[in-house]
Amino acid sequence: MSQLRLLVDGFLDFLYPRIDCVCCGKRLEKRAIHGICKHCCDNMPFIHEPKCAICSRPVNDEANICLECKYHSHSYDQALAVFEYSVVIKDMIHRYKYGGEYSLSRTFGFFLSEKLQESGWQVDLMIPVPLHVNRQKSRGFNQSALLGDYLSQRNEIPCRDDVLIRCVDTQSQTGFNRDKRTENIKDAFAVVDKYAIKDKNILIIDDVHTTGATVDGCSRMLRRAGAKKIYVITVATVVWD
Ligand SMILES: [Zn+2]
Ligand SMILES: [Zn+2]
Repeated sequence: MSQLRLLVDGFLDFLYPRIDCVCCGKRLEKRAIHGICKHCCDNMPFIHEPKCAICSRPVNDEANICLECKYHSHSYDQALAVFEYSVVIKDMIHRYKYGGEYSLSRTFGFFLSEKLQESGWQVDLMIPVPLHVNRQKSRGFNQSALLGDYLSQRNEIPCRDDVLIRCVDTQSQTGFNRDKRTENIKDAFAVVDKYAIKDKNILIIDDVHTTGATVDGCSRMLRRAGAKKIYVITVATVVWD
């Protein structure tokens, strides 16, 4: 489904290249794959150095890791995010997930791809965070799987959305604190093809990194199935005050 969507999307982009900025709606002065004008691009909340060596949240002094990572260990090895989860990014992700603006997968995919290429990670297999079948049915698509397809095509790394499944239809994590999130997501995921995971370097793809409970839940299962390295890449990460 999402493969087809991507194909259709690419074709539409060829036929009808984006002429308006996906952020402010103003006319683009020159064509850009990501569809964002220079002014908006200059004001996007990109994550820069110095950042946490584990979760990549900005750190404001010489600290190597953030307070979150200092007191709570993660099941993954390293996570990167493109943007801070600001109002602008929150709005764009909302339009993408709930507003039917699937073409934003190209905008996010473009920046994710750049981030991945900078990372130096050796990735064997990409896995999008799965949705439960009920959730996927009601939403119509898996936002992370569509990003995975884009990244896979651009970087020539396989992406599979049938290796890790969400077997429990968990409540939404919104509004939950860290402990509640971890409890809510516990045992929600299962690996259905261990051979695909064993001794591989895996890249988990998601839209937003909040406390990390979801990607940690996925990582735990992948680790048990014999994954070598587990990396995470997300469009945005929530930065705590
Ligand atoms: Zn703009
Ligand atoms: Zn951190």
